[in-house]
Amino acid sequence: MRVHPEALNEEERATYEWQMWIDGLGETGQRRLKGATALVSRCGGLGGPLCYHLASAGIGGLIIAHAGTVQPSDLNRQILMTHDGLGQSRVESAKRRLLELNPRLRVEAVSENITEANAGALVGRADIVFDCAPVFAERFAMNRACVQQGKPMIEAGMFEMEGQVTTIIPEETPCLACLYPEEPPAWKRQFPVLGAVSAMAAAIAAVEGIKLIAGFGKTLAGTLLYYDSRDMTFQRIPAVRRPGCAVCGTK
Ligand SMILES: [Zn+2]
Repeated sequence: MRVHPEALNEEERATYEWQMWIDGLGETGQRRLKGATALVSRCGGLGGPLCYHLASAGIGGLIIAHAGTVQPSDLNRQILMTHDGLGQSRVESAKRRLLELNPRLRVEAVSENITEANAGALVGRADIVFDCAPVFAERFAMNRACVQQGKPMIEAGMFEMEGQVTTIIPEETPCLACLYPEEPPAWKRQFPVLGAVSAMAAAIAAVEGIKLIAGFGKTLAGTLLYYDSRDMTFQRIPAVRRPGCAVCGTK
């Protein structure tokens, strides 16, 4: 993917020294991470730990879109939120925590959810997109904007003890609408969730994005990784494009 690498200063070299020892990442990959900006939809049970891992790994910028204020029921999983932040803006809480970890990070806190109206502009300011929204309308809006603009999108979802992650590369892999032509009829906005299970999907999605930005390893492009943490099974399911897909199809 296209990124403009940025030079590292001495503090950054010291901070990221141990991960720059990773075969394939190195200083070249670290400079690419510093030059990258990611859009993350929602900073809850999935997007929160995802943002934390991207920030700790030295990504240059994060644009985080999430409406609303911190509720008590967020605190079992939304690790960027704190008890003393109850009633305050979720994205501002997230921004504060992320800057405590990495003051070099550029964070744009967008206090609204992704919609058809704002998706194009937000995707346009990012190099890579992470879909961590639990609402299909948001996910479809992001998918459409990413396909139109040719931006990679890491797609992560979870339900109860299960999770799934795939990496969508426009023109190469199926898009979200290939996998879900319509919203699954049984889908509910509120669902059972354990923070550690959503954090698993977040960590997998973060690794996918870091590999894609830094330019090493093999991603889940064309593969849906599904896990059931109730018995800790992982499956790799091949995903194929649908020729008649309304978003990425050729006709
Ligand atoms: Zn498609």
